[in-house]
Amino acid sequence: MRTYTTSRHGQPNVSQLHYARQGVITEEMKRVAEREQLAPELVRSEVARGRMVIPANVNHVNLDPMAIGIAAKCKINANIGNSAVTSDEDTELEKLTVATKYGADTVMDLSTGGGLDAIRSTLIKHSAVPLGTVPIYQAVQQVDKVTDLTIEGFLEVIEHQAKQGVDYMTLHAGVLLRFMPYISKRKMGIVSRGGALMAEWMMHHHQENMLYTHWDRVCAILKKYDVTVSLGDGLRPGCLADASDEAQFAELGILGELTLKCWEHGVQVMVEGPGHVPMDQIEMNMKKEQEVCHEAPFYVLGPLTTDVAPGYDHITSAIGAAIAGWHGASMLCYVTPAEHLGLPNLEDVRQGVIAYKIAAHAADIARHRKGARDWDDAMSDARWKFDWNKQFALAMDPERAKEKHDATLSHDAFKTAEFCSMCGPKFCSYKNSQDVTAAWAKYVAETGAAGGALPESILAAKDSDVHAVIAAAAANHAPGELAAQAARERQVERKAMLAQKG
Ligand code: SF4
Repeated sequence: MRTYTTSRHGQPNVSQLHYARQGVITEEMKRVAEREQLAPELVRSEVARGRMVIPANVNHVNLDPMAIGIAAKCKINANIGNSAVTSDEDTELEKLTVATKYGADTVMDLSTGGGLDAIRSTLIKHSAVPLGTVPIYQAVQQVDKVTDLTIEGFLEVIEHQAKQGVDYMTLHAGVLLRFMPYISKRKMGIVSRGGALMAEWMMHHHQENMLYTHWDRVCAILKKYDVTVSLGDGLRPGCLADASDEAQFAELGILGELTLKCWEHGVQVMVEGPGHVPMDQIEMNMKKEQEVCHEAPFYVLGPLTTDVAPGYDHITSAIGAAIAGWHGASMLCYVTPAEHLGLPNLEDVRQGVIAYKIAAHAADIARHRKGARDWDDAMSDARWKFDWNKQFALAMDPERAKEKHDATLSHDAFKTAEFCSMCGPKFCSYKNSQDVTAAWAKYVAETGAAGGALPESILAAKDSDVHAVIAAAAANHAPGELAAQAARERQVERKAMLAQKG
């Protein structure tokens, strides 16, 4: 694979934002333009404006550059990582493989258990997609208690991870001491791990958020490696009752302020968002972020649209993610079926990624992004032609599609069958509809009645059974076709019976 990022080594300013502002179209921007079917100049101008980020640490050697921003296709992130209770380096590498196989555009390593450095360097080495982290997890691991954290220790961890090649980092710099009274009014307090840790430190020391007060120093480190900041939503709502409250929006205001500071430093930045939000508040939330955070890309977790479906939160949240993507979110952070219940396993990762690929693609279609619907149209053609193998190949999860089809009709003969086990040969509406279309075309050809009246026999047919209509049309105009149709049906029914008998 081609190496992009190392060409910036040794330059005094390596940030994509810096180059874009100078009018330079980098190799990374060209690659993004190619992948997005956008003009390279548009990519450059969006990066310069801060509406698009290209997370591409100069030390992430095998990265295939991608972009997050409103002009680009909607992206999805998959969170992986171990906990103190379960998982190891090999399992996390497997999760990376599964996540990227099914289409994760970025991956975040949220490990909080042991071996953080080893897991992170292995993931960076094997990942062609940008890797994100939450440095406070390692900073806290290195001290006895959260309250022992110091800004020097925190900055050391940030620089250490930046040197390793981390492409973007979530930093909870917008959780401020003066927002703490808002938390007591909530049903569920602070549900962000990073947000809760920062709040604990602030309340213990009665001091302001150390990242907020040392933000210039944070930016100076990130700029050296072109690490993109992902401004963490430490006060995101953790339930519908807390959605869109004063704590959430007070923090969002600070994230807007920090966005401007990042841009002053030439640091690329995106903003993280909620959380748990009822459907009727999602559009308002997307618009508010664009307004308050100066159109910096919005990276949203879900949001979950109901709180009552543990085990299915990839669905409750993908509904919200699709709406968020439609109304302006640039990247959707997946939620898996294990959310609120445990650490996701490989199957959870697969289901979470697919649920979010669906949400992001649905958003791309709704936003009329270039070429977004071509995929759907190709699938419709394959369905209409009963090209089952092509349907599997086009499916978002080809293996799952084939598995579902073959569960009832596994024999090779059914890969060209003009029906599936859902309706069976007699009731397959695609086939019956095709016969109606063919009969009508034949009638038009024979009578020259283009756009003309239907034969009396069809108009008189009261029975809604499509077969009656076909029979009427065929009896009048295509007796040969009717016989052929009946023979075909008998043949497929016979094949089905034989195959089922084994
Ligand atoms: S049998 Fe029913 S579900 Fe299957 S292809 Fe035909 S119309 Fe579609």
